[in-house]
Amino acid sequence: MRIVLVNPRGFCAGVHMAIQVVDQLLDLVEGETVFVYHDIVHNTHVVQRFRERGVTFVEDVNDVPAGAFVVFSAHGVAPSVRDTARQRELRAIDATCPLVTKVHMEAIRYARQGYQILLIGHKDHQEIVGTFGEAPAATQIVESPDDIPSLNIVDPAKLVYLTQTTLSTDDAQVIIDALKAAFPKIKAPPSEDICYATTNRQHAVRELAPDCDLTLVVGSTTSSNSKRLTEISKNVGTDARLIDDASKLDPAWLDGVARVLVTSGASAPEDLVQELCRRLVNEFGAEIEVAELANESMEFALPKSLQDEMRTRGVDASSRRIPFGRFEVTAKTYGTVPITVSAKA
Ligand code: SF4
Repeated sequence: MRIVLVNPRGFCAGVHMAIQVVDQLLDLVEGETVFVYHDIVHNTHVVQRFRERGVTFVEDVNDVPAGAFVVFSAHGVAPSVRDTARQRELRAIDATCPLVTKVHMEAIRYARQGYQILLIGHKDHQEIVGTFGEAPAATQIVESPDDIPSLNIVDPAKLVYLTQTTLSTDDAQVIIDALKAAFPKIKAPPSEDICYATTNRQHAVRELAPDCDLTLVVGSTTSSNSKRLTEISKNVGTDARLIDDASKLDPAWLDGVARVLVTSGASAPEDLVQELCRRLVNEFGAEIEVAELANESMEFALPKSLQDEMRTRGVDASSRRIPFGRFEVTAKTYGTVPITVSAKA
């Protein structure tokens, strides 16, 4: 059996930044409880590892004691959450991914210009809840083309669509085409809302899965972008499974499999991918082949509020920065690859 190990995979710049925020804050305020609003990223292992370090996750900022630190997750929050945190005098650190913030800014700007916004995405996803909250009166959520007939449109010439950052590019295009057919004058966002990491990970699966017999995606079922990777593989005819870690691998899936594509969602830690590869090598005699489809170099700075907190405490923020390491897992170095990112997270 051959493992086709995809690059790029795993952590994107936004997830790396959000994990660093909690990691750094825990070190900085040792002894104080750190609260995180919503799962910091949608991965059960990341959340559990932080729980073990004393982080308390909440779904309501009213559950955070007045004056305590609260981190907003990478998916972003609605202004009402920020307002409540301010009223309760919480010390908020915003770990929203800048690419999500970009969509928030677009929603605010178009609403101010009198546009109605058609927000393409999953209505229960935290990111959509946050973006919708920026301009609720002007925004309607579109989950599929079936939603189009029931939209309440005032002026078809004053319409814009925006999208969730982690959608399947294929599915989003189907909805965008349907919107353009229904409202030919609808405006597109100034630049693509589906982010670079989502696009790259999906493109890699679309290209490589047809030559494989099975795709294994390491990620949690709560992770939108991980789920999309399995769907894309299935769409090109290759069976796919989403697993949280190597222990969830069912050997029966490997019957008759000669090539297995291994990738991971943007919130899945690399050590879990390595653990899966190790199991495939040790128990099934697999050999690893690395498929490199894109080189990512995006990196985000720590939020200003955290940098300010560091300065107040006499800590040099730049010296605490963890570089966004790439994981060069090859057959040669396999098994000795250091986990350089979020070792503690
Ligand atoms: S998947 Fe994209 S939008 Fe989401 S956190 Fe990562 S870089 Fe940001």
